[in-house]
Amino acid sequence: MTNNEADRACLPESPALPGHSGSLSWMDGESPINAFGRALQNRFGGRIQRVSIDAGFTCPNVDGAVAKGGCNFCDNRSFSPSRRVRLQQVKTQLLSGIQTVRERYKKVSGFIAYFQPATNTYAPVEQLREVFELALGLNDEIQDEIVGLAIGTRPDCVPESVLSLIEELASQSYVSVEYGMQTIHDASLVWMNRAHSHADMINAIDRSRGRGFEICAHVILGIPGESHAMMMETAIEIGVLGFDAIKLHNLYAVRGTPLGEEVLSGQTKMMDRDEYVRTVVDFLERIPPQVIVERISGDAPSDFLIEPKWCLEKSSLRLSIEAEFAKRGTRQGSQYQPPGLPPEKRPVPADKTPASIREQIDRRGRLPVLKMQDR
Ligand code: SF4
Repeated sequence: MTNNEADRACLPESPALPGHSGSLSWMDGESPINAFGRALQNRFGGRIQRVSIDAGFTCPNVDGAVAKGGCNFCDNRSFSPSRRVRLQQVKTQLLSGIQTVRERYKKVSGFIAYFQPATNTYAPVEQLREVFELALGLNDEIQDEIVGLAIGTRPDCVPESVLSLIEELASQSYVSVEYGMQTIHDASLVWMNRAHSHADMINAIDRSRGRGFEICAHVILGIPGESHAMMMETAIEIGVLGFDAIKLHNLYAVRGTPLGEEVLSGQTKMMDRDEYVRTVVDFLERIPPQVIVERISGDAPSDFLIEPKWCLEKSSLRLSIEAEFAKRGTRQGSQYQPPGLPPEKRPVPADKTPASIREQIDRRGRLPVLKMQDR
């Protein structure tokens, strides 16, 4: 959400926020949520844009380390060696992404290198270091424009070696790790073929907290079989586990995926728009007010998207969500109840990363075909 978009919301007097003493700076504005664009602006003093990078990683849910086939909604046919040899080099991607953003927006103060597709901590750790440091190191060439990293990954892919590396990078720069949590309900994770459990998510965040990087949860609403009450249980877990940020997505189906086939055959239905709007507001009312809301919906290119089509109208969807908040006179955190055990007091557990994943990450060497820079 950009600042302009966030500014469109109009709310009555802010209600008291249970479990949170004092006001947060985002509440001084008119937005009902702690929007990402504003949070970045406050942190860096100007407009920050993410530039997406495909570093050529694959996924343990695709290559057989934990499962094959991948998640039912994920078009992972592209996570193959042939894709990796065709990949634009990381440096080229980053520089051309920055140029594209600069052409679109006149005032951009900095960029976050966003390692987005596949599982971006699933490679030998020294190779991860090389690729992340390459992105941050480009500052020498482009005058400190890259303000940090965002790293998308799975909760079962962060052994201690990876967390130590990210902690080290976070001591020098902004780093956000985005975990694909999706839901707290294991039956739904099985339905999606995630090949990890919610216990894996708890293990990852309890080992990630307090290391100096931001921790973001990617959550999907509208999973078939999940009731409203189940989705609200996932919302409550955001505060229990102490996530710093959240990305909310509606479940959507794209061509070439198992979910796409189910939707085309009529076997599975997507959530309708009005229900999604109400569910997002219910969800955000239950998460802590300080959590940064990075997204409130997801979509795909229109030629790949099967259903729901309404998610393509992002601006109008956002306005509807803001209007629902205004109608209720509530905002993010209005119904938040702090957990009995504050997240920072939760014990740090032993690392439960599956051995099959750890073998890939903690081995010496590098993925054979990953191309990172001109050589
Ligand atoms: S874990 Fe992520 S990258 Fe892997 S198959 Fe699922 S959605 Fe795709």
